[in-house]
Amino acid sequence: MKIGFIGLGNMGAPMAANLAAAGHAVTGFDTVATPPADVAQAASAAEAAAGAEVVITMLPNGAILKAVAGDVIPAMQSGAVLLDCSTVDVASAREVAAMAEAAGLGALDAPVSGGVGGAAAGTLTFMVGGGAAAFATAEPLFEVMGQKAVHCGPAGNGQAAKICNNMILGVTMIATCEAFALADKLGLDRQAMYDVVSTSSGQSWSMTTYCPAPGVGPKSPSDNGYTPGFAADLMLKDLRLSQAAAEGADADTPMGALAAALYARFVEEEDGAGRDFSAMLPRFETRTRES
Ligand code: NAD
Repeated sequence: MKIGFIGLGNMGAPMAANLAAAGHAVTGFDTVATPPADVAQAASAAEAAAGAEVVITMLPNGAILKAVAGDVIPAMQSGAVLLDCSTVDVASAREVAAMAEAAGLGALDAPVSGGVGGAAAGTLTFMVGGGAAAFATAEPLFEVMGQKAVHCGPAGNGQAAKICNNMILGVTMIATCEAFALADKLGLDRQAMYDVVSTSSGQSWSMTTYCPAPGVGPKSPSDNGYTPGFAADLMLKDLRLSQAAAEGADADTPMGALAAALYARFVEEEDGAGRDFSAMLPRFETRTRES
């Protein structure tokens, strides 16, 4: 397939490289980064999009996505698909899909989980919103870049799935970390805590797959000095998106709101910036009820 790829950062570059390695003709554009080997360089986003059957975007936020969509949609050939893999707000995803569809294009929002490691290994999970025909066009590309693509419904539903998942993740990581810190103060050994909780009703992915306590459970960023992994900054971004969506939909999300406030404090006022999101455990370790 002829593919335009816009946004060649930490995630976009390895995704574009995997598509090129699978035999697709990929032309990339980024305002700063240069394309990986086997990806041709375009002079602009519109040039990368011209003549492509699928244009993929992997950009920082909804405002940038909307600006790039404004440039590429007029350059795209009729019937082509605009496939956004960035994590952005639901409203921007729906606006961009409406712009694309008004221009006779297919549109999908397909944010990912799996991080930079999953992007490099081609094992991402895609959560996809948009029409069935566009999904069918993009499916072979999902198979190259990832291991699973779930069609979640119409435009915006991929972003909705992503932020709901990450709201649960943020809340359960905080709960897991504060429980470990309480267990420490009660004299409960961390390994014993893990052995009980990982097989009891407090079990979650945060405990069993990504345990925030070093030396306990499978290898995780806690065993590597809390180098991300999944950075606390990105968790804060996703929690803020979930709160913006909750406001827009008039949904009551008190735990999500508290998780967003705690990660904001951790990243913006404490030492959380650039650390893995499970570094909430050393944060709680040093705290008292009043601090
Ligand atoms: P990044 O900052 O490394 O990459 C974004 C790229 O977009 C940069 O290279 C930047 O130069 C480029 N860019 C910005 N404006 C542009 C424009 N107008 N035209 C062309 N290029 C432009 O970010 P990333 O880590 O690759 O993340 C990309 C998206 O994926 C984000 O929405 C992020 O939330 C999401 N995501 C990231 C991870 C992760 O672990 N890094 C995991 C899941 C989802």
